[in-house]
Amino acid sequence: MSAEHSSTSKGIVIVGAGLAGWHVIDAIRAKDKDIAITLVTTDSADRYHKPMLTMAISQNKRASDLVRATGSDAAKNANVNLLANTQVSDIDSASQQLHLISATRSDPANVDYATIGYDKLVLAMGAHPIFPQSLPEDLVWHVNHIERFGQLQEKLATGSQHVAIV
Ligand SMILES: Cc1cc2nc3c(=O)[nH]c(=O)nc-3n(C[C@H](O)[C@H](O)[C@H](O)COP(=O)(O)OP(=O)(O)OC[C@H]3O[C@@H](n4cnc5c(N)ncnc54)[C@H](O)[C@@H]3O)c2cc1C
Repeated sequence: MSAEHSSTSKGIVIVGAGLAGWHVIDAIRAKDKDIAITLVTTDSADRYHKPMLTMAISQNKRASDLVRATGSDAAKNANVNLLANTQVSDIDSASQQLHLISATRSDPANVDYATIGYDKLVLAMGAHPIFPQSLPEDLVWHVNHIERFGQLQEKLATGSQHVAIV
């Protein structure tokens, strides 16, 4: 282990476990097996190829069929400290710290439960589409995540199959 990987090093923190976040991890590990990496993500960090969502319904595949590795298995294989179901709520770039909240609680007790430091920070948080206010929120699905895809599939199996695709 080199000097820059000493015990005082906070290592690299990556926010987001989509294709970008995991590919950054693959690229770092190809060069450096030891440097500390922490992955923070609001989801489970399961590895899947998002473009596969396009064909999954017509191929009769469930969300779980698309998962190549669970987040915990992939993190173990890549020697990554995984903080799943955890949302970054703030970044203090002066002190190089992230504020974390639970991603699974929406009540007022959802306050910071931890701060972690970083030496290098990678933001791989994807994108969020705007939501036209004139549309009824409960009828509109943004299928930009495997979990949401699974929920849509369940809905289609039990409810209306008339959909408009934008
Ligand atoms: C159905 C579909 C088909 C597609 N087909 C193609 C294709 O054929 N070709 C192509 O090139 N592209 C395609 N794309 C686009 C491509 O899949 C995406 O651009 C790409 O997967 C985005 O990856 P990402 O890692 O940047 O973001 P995302 O996959 O959105 O990942 C973002 C990550 O950040 C986490 N996150 C966000 N905010 C926070 C926070 N505050 N704290 C902690 N974690 C956070 C999320 O939980 C998630 O893990 C398609 C997309 C979809 C939805």
